[in-house]
Order: sequence, then C-alpha cells, then structure tokens
Amino acid sequence: MRAKIQKSMELILVFTLLVSYTLMTAIVYHQTLHLLKNEIRQEAEYIQTAVTISGSNYLKELHEINAVDEETRVTWIDANGDVQYDSKSDSSSLENHANRPEIASAYKNGSGSDIRTSGTLGHQMYYYAVRLDDGTVLRLSKTSNSMAATAMNMLPVMTVIAVAMLILAWLLAKWQTARIIKPINDLDIGNPMQNAVYEELLPLLTAIDEQNKEKDAIAQMRKEFSANVSHELKTPLTSISGYAEIMMNGMVKPEDIPTFSERIYKEAKRLVTLVEDIIKLSKLDEESVELEKEDVNLYELTREICTLLSPQAEKKHVHVQISGGNVVYYGIRQILNEMIYNICENAIKYNYENGHLEIWVGNTLNGPKITIADDGIGIPKEHQERIFERFYRVDKSHSKERGGTGLGLSIVKHGAILHDIKVSVESEENGGTKFTLQF
Ligand code: ADP
Repeated sequence: MRAKIQKSMELILVFTLLVSYTLMTAIVYHQTLHLLKNEIRQEAEYIQTAVTISGSNYLKELHEINAVDEETRVTWIDANGDVQYDSKSDSSSLENHANRPEIASAYKNGSGSDIRTSGTLGHQMYYYAVRLDDGTVLRLSKTSNSMAATAMNMLPVMTVIAVAMLILAWLLAKWQTARIIKPINDLDIGNPMQNAVYEELLPLLTAIDEQNKEKDAIAQMRKEFSANVSHELKTPLTSISGYAEIMMNGMVKPEDIPTFSERIYKEAKRLVTLVEDIIKLSKLDEESVELEKEDVNLYELTREICTLLSPQAEKKHVHVQISGGNVVYYGIRQILNEMIYNICENAIKYNYENGHLEIWVGNTLNGPKITIADDGIGIPKEHQERIFERFYRVDKSHSKERGGTGLGLSIVKHGAILHDIKVSVESEENGGTKFTLQF
C-alpha cells in the first residue's frame, strides 16, 4: 500500500510537470510572438515615417535603419513585386514577391502579415508588409522561434525544475504516505470500534466488529455446549455404572435383575440417541453437509415418518392423521427427514393418552408448507422462544422420562437455516402445539 501510494503521488507529479511544460511552452511561444509582432509593426511604422519624410531615397534610408537592427530583415518591393532591396541577400537574385501572402495583402489592403519558414534564410520568420504612398511595399521580418524551438529552449530550465520537484515530491510523498498509513498500521483489530481512524474504514471496522462478536458468541456457545454435553453424558453413565455396580456386588435379588437390566438398557439407549443427536448437530453446525440436494416429495416423506412413528403413537393411543397432497421440494432428503421426524415425534411424546396429531402437507401461494398440530401438553409462552436452543427443555425431568435429549428442535433449527425454511410455533399450555414449516 505504502509503495502504491508513493508511486501514484510521483506519477501525478510527473504528469503535472509534463502538462506544465507543455502549457508553459505554448504560453511563452505566444507571448514571444506577440511581442515580436508589435516590435516589427512599430519598426515598420518608423521606417515608413522616415521614408515619407526623407523623400523617395528609400534605399539609403533603409540601409541606415538596417544597420541599427541586425536581426531585422528589410525588403523593399516595387509595385510589380520585384525586389528592389533586401538587407540580407542580393535583391537581384530574389524572385518576384508579388505572390507572397503578406505582400499581396499589403498591395490590396495597405498591410499584411504571415508566419512561415523563409525559403531564403531557412528559419521560421514573421513577415509584416506595408504599402507606401507610391505603391511600393516595405516588408520587415524577424526570425521567430517555432513551438518546438521554444520547447527546446525551455528544456534545460524545466529539467532543473523537474529534478528539484521530483526530489521534493519524493520526500513529501514518503512523509505523507507514512502519515496516511500510520493509523492503519496502529489499528487495534481486537477492538475495532475504539479506533478513531478514517471515515472510509468505518464499514470495514464495523464488519470486523460484527465478526468478532459473532466469533465470541460462537466460542461461548461451544463452551456452553461442551459443558452441557459432558453433563448430559455423565448423568446416564452414572446411572448405568451405579446399577451395574449394585448388580456386580450381588445386591440385587435375582427377580429384580430384569428391572435393573431394563434400566441399564434404557439409559444406554438414551446415551446412544444423545450421541447420535450430537453428531447430527455438529455436522449441521460445521456446515460440512456434503449431502446432495434432490427433489423430495414432502407428502411421501411425512407419510413414511408417520409409519415409522406409528408404534410410539399406538403405545400412547395418539391418533395420527395426515392430509394434503404431493408437493415436491428441492432439498437434502436426510435433513428434511430429521426435521419432520423430530417435530412429529415431539407431537406424540408431549401428547396425552388418546391425543391427536394432525399433519397437513401441501402447496401454498408462498410455496410448500407443512403444519404439524397436536392437542398435547403445549408449551408455555415464556418458553416458546427458547425451545430451539440446545439442551433446552421446558420440563427437564419429564423430557428425560419421555426420552428427550433437548437437541431435537436444535436440529430442526439448523436444518431450516440450511434450507432457508421458516419455522414457527403456536402453542398454549395444555392447549396443544402447532409447528409450521414454510418452505
Ligand atoms: P427433547 O429431546 O427434549 O424433546 P427438543 O429440542 O425436541 O428436545 O424440544 C425441546 C423442548 O420443547 C422439549 O423438551 C419440550 O419441553 C418442548 N416441546 C417440543 N415439542 C413440543 C410439543 N409438541 N409439545 C409440547 N412441548 C414441546
């Protein structure tokens, strides 16, 4: 960045110098030419006056004047265009001048001027011609620098100025670049909003701040999650080892062994479910879902889930009803399956004996939709926002009794984020619960 700023500053200076050089050349050229024109006109007037006063002895007068100003070329042309006198060359060797623009103009209008390279002298000349009273023409000319010659004349001075300016600019650019860069180098990325730097950096700093907060939140969540996981794993493991220890020590009557074994089996099963849920969730969390999206018939999928859950429903005498129609959604089948399964399983788990579970799958104007409604125990208002948090349970002891891990709805939430599905809950304590998935 430093090198780039410095380089661009130097480039700007070089460009400015070149533009200044061109402009200066043009100005100097035009000013010099303007002065030259005035000078020649004045000289011409003087000679004209002198000639008028001293009569027709033009040649003599012109000779004298020419002796005074060496740079001025004086030419006298008669009314036919023949050169009668030329201060710089032999007049007899000069061709007829009647067609020279300044002379033609002087014959016609009394005076005329032109700039061109002289065929006789080989320089760029400025010519000014005046018609005298007897019809002859007096022409004065002086060498005038061309634009290129003016530029060449200015080159040494401009080179000295340019070198001095470049050295100065290099030093200034170095100093200025260091000044601009310093606040950026001193940025405290850990506390981005504490930096009082350039306004232009504010969006970047805000983004970094948000990222930092997000990272902190994730770190905190991970910490809480590991603490929760350890706790959740420890409880069934303690029970299992406790029961096993009692059995090992022969403290259980033979007739009680099946009961103890069943307890061990249930706790072990809970552990397996818990570990499975943790694996599912961490996979969703890492966004390392490698599963391919495909067209999934949501109605078919929900029906399959209901079939799978029917033993649980029958055990509790929960009446399950599914309505609606086929609707196809492009998503990850396995995750959609987990989501619908968890909500339906909850609707049975947290239902009363002889309760109802009504499922509707169909298409709406806003896209595919699934509603899963039960008339079970419901979720009190104050808990509704939190049920999607990991390990959050409304009634911890009962949830465990019912075989819950507290991770089911977290899986639903993550699956919904992955698919951009809107999940909403309507529930009342003892008034049942309705989950809506808007795809
Ligand atoms: P769990 O494994 O405990 O069921 P979930 O994440 O699936 O965990 O659900 C979180 C909590 O939300 C549950 O413990 C339960 O208290 C509540 N809950 C979820 N679904 C329902 C429902 N249909 N009816 C009543 N409460 C529910």
